[in-house]
Amino acid sequence: MLKRNVPLHHLNTFGLPASASWFTTISTPTELAALIDTAEWHYLERFILGGGSNLIFTGDFAGLVLHVKIHGMELVREDSDAWIVRAGAGERWHSFVYWTLAHGWLGLENLAFIPGTVGGAPVQNIGAYGIEISERVQCLETVDLKTGKTVIFDRSACQFSYRDSVFKGDAAGRYLINAVVFRLPKLWEPLINHIDVIKELEAMKICNPTARNIADAIVAIRTRKLPDPERFGNAGSFFKNPVVDSATFACLASQYPEMPYYIQPDGMIKLAGGWLIERCGWKGRKFGPVGVYEKQALVLVNCGGASGRDVLALAFAIQKSVQAVFGVKLVHEPVLL
Ligand SMILES: Cc1cc2nc3c(=O)[nH]c(=O)nc-3n(C[C@H](O)[C@H](O)[C@H](O)COP(=O)(O)OP(=O)(O)OC[C@H]3O[C@@H](n4cnc5c(N)ncnc54)[C@H](O)[C@@H]3O)c2cc1C
Repeated sequence: MLKRNVPLHHLNTFGLPASASWFTTISTPTELAALIDTAEWHYLERFILGGGSNLIFTGDFAGLVLHVKIHGMELVREDSDAWIVRAGAGERWHSFVYWTLAHGWLGLENLAFIPGTVGGAPVQNIGAYGIEISERVQCLETVDLKTGKTVIFDRSACQFSYRDSVFKGDAAGRYLINAVVFRLPKLWEPLINHIDVIKELEAMKICNPTARNIADAIVAIRTRKLPDPERFGNAGSFFKNPVVDSATFACLASQYPEMPYYIQPDGMIKLAGGWLIERCGWKGRKFGPVGVYEKQALVLVNCGGASGRDVLALAFAIQKSVQAVFGVKLVHEPVLL
């Protein structure tokens, strides 16, 4: 079952070179249980790999990569107010979103066209166009890689927050998510509060959009705005939008009145990381094999032949300059391995 010295270049959307000393594909929970019973399991370090779209490989991995390929999508049941839908962790996220829409189970449309797998999506609580996956998750079915036991995480146990969850923190690497159960409300209302979506629907001449219209609009926007990983390797936004307190914000706003910001429910203020980076002069600049995407400064791109070290060097230089100019700390979004 275990392969040796497997290249990972084609298994991460940044296209970074790396290899795994040990590698296996997990297609069913039973396969995983069998693996946990082997001698190798207990001495190898492990890493769980989904679609590789939120990952920076900084070098070769001396342990065992578990590539999650667990499939299956089903309606579990229908409640009076919601559809309960379950998907295997290895399903492609975008295909799953369109599958739900085709069945009339709505509520994931704003998250269309995010790369990666269903299992990878809750790890960083994917979000886009006014919604986060946490708002639709009922529970996660996982296997504790230490004990081999099944553990169910309900929404609160996942400790979701902005681009974060317990699976990026205390529980990182310990639980393999094998399925995600979603609660999709029957009472559906379009969520159109982003100016790009409003404009796109206007351009499509759609006044009363269906969920499918919204998903199609978002696919069109994202196709224009973000680099296609097939052409320019990338991991989406490289930095989280920084969140600051009101005193810090007031100080910045007096110096930069044109600075975009978003007030959060807890009173903190989210700044647009891309704007800060652009103001420091990084947008569209290329540094050997890596660069800052010309249309969106939050995205770093592989211009050809980049290594993880090249990416980290550029990221560090950007962080330093944003800190120096604005006094704001940028935190990277992808997982570094
Ligand atoms: C062009 C582009 C656009 C993007 N846009 C967005 C966006 O709008 N919003 C957003 O939030 N993100 C965005 N992303 C980031 C990325 O697509 C998501 O974070 C995605 O959910 C990662 O899933 P993955 O399967 O690729 O995970 P991977 O990159 O394979 O893994 C990421 C982390 O999750 C863990 N993991 C993966 N699968 C499992 C599993 N089954 N069980 C346990 N742990 C697991 C890994 O160990 C790793 O720590 C974008 C990326 C790209 C390339």
